[in-house]
Amino acid sequence: INLFLVLILFIFSFLLGLKNTHQKTVKSMIEIGIRKKEFIPYYQPIINSLSGEIIGCETLLRWHKSNGDIIPPNAFIDIAEKNKQIYEITDLLIDQVTADISSLKGLDDQFYASINVLPRQLENQTFATKLLQKLSEHEMPNHRLAIEVTESTPFTDLKSAKSVMQRLIDNDISIKLDDAGTGFGGFSYLQQLPFNTLKIDKMFIDTIGTCDVKANILNAIITFGKKAKLTMIAEGVETLDQVEYLREQGVYLIQGFVYAKPMPFDELKTFINACKSN
Ligand code: C2E
Ligand code: CA
Ligand code: CA
Ligand code: CA
Repeated sequence: INLFLVLILFIFSFLLGLKNTHQKTVKSMIEIGIRKKEFIPYYQPIINSLSGEIIGCETLLRWHKSNGDIIPPNAFIDIAEKNKQIYEITDLLIDQVTADISSLKGLDDQFYASINVLPRQLENQTFATKLLQKLSEHEMPNHRLAIEVTESTPFTDLKSAKSVMQRLIDNDISIKLDDAGTGFGGFSYLQQLPFNTLKIDKMFIDTIGTCDVKANILNAIITFGKKAKLTMIAEGVETLDQVEYLREQGVYLIQGFVYAKPMPFDELKTFINACKSN
């Protein structure tokens, strides 16, 4: 039995070692990526399904490695957060997004680009200070930038988060609760923090037209959103049937492959012009 235990321990520490080595490798690769500015914003349009107009877009990080590989965020965000590299990556992203969006001409007044931040980033005034500085550097109107905060990791300091969020809102930057209903806080964050928009996660959109019990949750979220007078954006919408169902429920703002996938900035420009000429 002792031998067996030793063997188990050995395998366990071997696997743990492998995991640590993997994380260390990714960490140093991210460090190089930051230096070479390999983290690029992609943009996914958000469409009003009633008018067909583009009302804004979400910025989604892609890592363009020098060997041509494009790495999606889920492969590195967690590690970048753990190593506090996410701060530098977000700084890079904000730099590029403000440069990109401020270069667009003839935009609708409502048009905005949202960026994703982790709850922890919103607990620090430096974040707001830097962001407002970047916007004024690029002479980009503040309302053209919005923030999405996921509730899939928890806030640790609600009081600080609240004051940073209030400062951003006072400066015309709106704050959206991402992945609503999937994680921590949920409706309690909506009560305590000044969100004005709710992003309904793909997990719930996928239940449309099924008998899944989660379909009830979708309806509960929509009912809540209406009562609380929150703007709602449905995310991960892939079919026109889903668009139709959501429209019947009073949800018109749609982000999903049914209209467009996340795309590089050049393609976004083409997409916006195509929307205009329709
Ligand atoms: P998210 O914020 O919930 O972003 C939506 C995700 O759904 C994106 O995945 C998007 O490509 C995907 N999506 C949108 N419509 C559809 C659809 O119709 N079908 C399917 N199958 N997927 C759809 P992506 O780009 O891989 O990003 C994954 C997550 O990574 C994001 O989830 C967000 O939490 C995180 N992320 C992305 N960029 C950043 C960033 O700059 N900072 C931070 N902290 N997190 C980021
Ligand atoms: Ca998001
Ligand atoms: Ca989301
Ligand atoms: Ca999500």
